[in-house]
Amino acid sequence: MTTAVSFAKVSRHFGAVRAVDNVDLSIAEGEFFAMLGPSGSGKTTCLRLIAGFEQPTSGHIEIFGTTVEHVPPYRRNVNTVFQDYALFPHMNIIDNVAYGLMIRGMNKADRHAAANEALELVALPGYGERRPGQLSGGQRQRVALARALVNKPKVLLLDEPLGALDLKLREQMQEELKILQRKLGITFVFVTHDQGEALSMADRVAVFNDGKIQQIGSPQDIYQRPESRFVADFVGSSNVLEPGFVKQLTGKESYASLRPEAIRIVSADGHSATVTGSSYLGGTTRISLALGDMRIGALIPADQAVPENGTTVQISWQENDLHLMEGAQ
Ligand code: ATP
Repeated sequence: MTTAVSFAKVSRHFGAVRAVDNVDLSIAEGEFFAMLGPSGSGKTTCLRLIAGFEQPTSGHIEIFGTTVEHVPPYRRNVNTVFQDYALFPHMNIIDNVAYGLMIRGMNKADRHAAANEALELVALPGYGERRPGQLSGGQRQRVALARALVNKPKVLLLDEPLGALDLKLREQMQEELKILQRKLGITFVFVTHDQGEALSMADRVAVFNDGKIQQIGSPQDIYQRPESRFVADFVGSSNVLEPGFVKQLTGKESYASLRPEAIRIVSADGHSATVTGSSYLGGTTRISLALGDMRIGALIPADQAVPENGTTVQISWQENDLHLMEGAQ
């Protein structure tokens, strides 16, 4: 397996801020890799380090086996799709898409042919004569994608590219991006703070916090087997159960995570918990519960009766839904 991007102990500090702190990672060729984390956790800085817009304070970056510290952005065979798209408002769509090829000196007929091909790829054929201001947000997003793809990069960097779109369009673009990535076989590195987006699209996800990677794994690993409280909390609002309670259940004194959707309200033989609130979410209802000193959330199907606040209910889950987090604080 060829490695597309590798970081060896890479740090990027801005004064006292450790934006990226001693990060090791390896992204395989053709992989759809997501960098997920809260605002300020260092994802964008990692992307900019790959693109060459930032230099590491220490450590070592390779792209397809070549050390890139001294390679300028335009020589890296990497393109970026920015959140704000960064289209040129005064240029029509075809010239926007063909811009990178023009800079490289390709003649007009060839670059327009390539740009039309790229527009077809993103399902925007025939839009070439318009200007960015005459397109919807979703269409501008596609143009930004076409403008990056036309350069046939080996690695495509995407910085929250769907952030400005409404929910429905975002979900549609998530599916389309994934299909496009499979079809083209280009390595995608995708930055997002939206866990649903990362889990639905990526082959692997790196969860960032405070400039460090907390966990790297498949979406299933990250979601079902979080290794730390941070990952359990951030990826899907899991419940974290206290070691004392977990010891009574399993004999092991360790924190454990329990997904809200794994919890069932049963008629008998469960753990007694008090209902403290509920919110209707459409397909499901989220119930807040006090279980001893712990506050936990459960998701129940929307057609199930919602117990009233203050009532005591019995809750239960399958043994293998409880995931022990050894060493978590
Ligand atoms: P967001 O989702 O909000 O974009 P992020 O996870 O991408 O966040 P970064 O943009 O990588 O985070 O920023 C990481 C940290 O580095 C933040 O504390 C940020 O303020 C700081 N930082 C980033 N760029 C610079 C800079 N040029 N100068 C000073 N500090 C910076």
